[in-house]
Amino acid sequence: MKTLLTSLSEAAAWSAVARREGKRIGLVPTMGALHEGHCSLIERAALENDVVVVSIFVNPLQFGDPNDLDRYPRSLEADCLLAERSGATVIVAPEVAELYPTWPNPPETSVTVGRLGTLFEGASRPGHFTGVATIVTMLHQALRPMNAYYGEKDFQQLTILRQVGADLWSGVAVRGCPIVREDDGLAMSSRNVRLSSEARIAARVLSKSLAVAANAVEQHPEIAVADLEAVVVDALGFGGELVEPDYAVVVDASTLERWSGRIILGQVRLLVAAVVGGVRLLDNSDLTPLPS
Ligand code: AMP
Repeated sequence: MKTLLTSLSEAAAWSAVARREGKRIGLVPTMGALHEGHCSLIERAALENDVVVVSIFVNPLQFGDPNDLDRYPRSLEADCLLAERSGATVIVAPEVAELYPTWPNPPETSVTVGRLGTLFEGASRPGHFTGVATIVTMLHQALRPMNAYYGEKDFQQLTILRQVGADLWSGVAVRGCPIVREDDGLAMSSRNVRLSSEARIAARVLSKSLAVAANAVEQHPEIAVADLEAVVVDALGFGGELVEPDYAVVVDASTLERWSGRIILGQVRLLVAAVVGGVRLLDNSDLTPLPS
């Protein structure tokens, strides 16, 4: 069996055989340029399933900005090595022409996400979550996993995919995996390679601002949500002029509704997004202190 499959229909045939053999299939959808964050998902999938399929597809439907799509890093050969080493049984890297035959015209049919898709990332990137929900539904439909693994790094995406899973996919458990960080706290992201050396230093301020917020909650458990959000925005200001904050919001971790009242650890999530030296970065925290 080849490890790299270049079409989703081939991967669907592989999946059908695996299911006939009674194997539990774990799915890890990615856009490639793999790093240790992705590897942590693959490793967990390998522990919890008999076979693991990793998809690598830079999904044009979820990019509003064509420049962002063009500049998205791609490294298929290295990705295959990393994925295999982390426990992938099969890697599927389909072509745009197979998944969206009418591209650059979008497909006639897509998966629309309701309220959750209009908030935060959805507000800054209209259509983004339709693109995500559509591709992931196509992957689930073809590969029929028992478990699918998504990172908390993209917390809104994870919340949305739990909802899409409940609404459209039957028999799949959506598993959320913790954020993997660089030594200095920056959340690993394929986009980090696009940071200039100055922007890479400035980008540390995202995780720092989360740490400042967690500390503020520890010191002042009664802190008002608006004050806490202001603390985060102030902290992001220390990143200097390369850092343009987009949002810093405390939300209900299950519904993503804006939180009000006393912070209750375990029920809230702080979401931040900023453009750093032209690169959009996301981070989030449950407001417990980050491990140092
Ligand atoms: P991407 O290739 O960026 O679309 O990411 C593929 C999957 O890996 C998504 O479920 C992400 O949330 C997850 N992921 C990306 N970066 C990290 C990270 N630093 N830690 C944990 N999961 C991550």
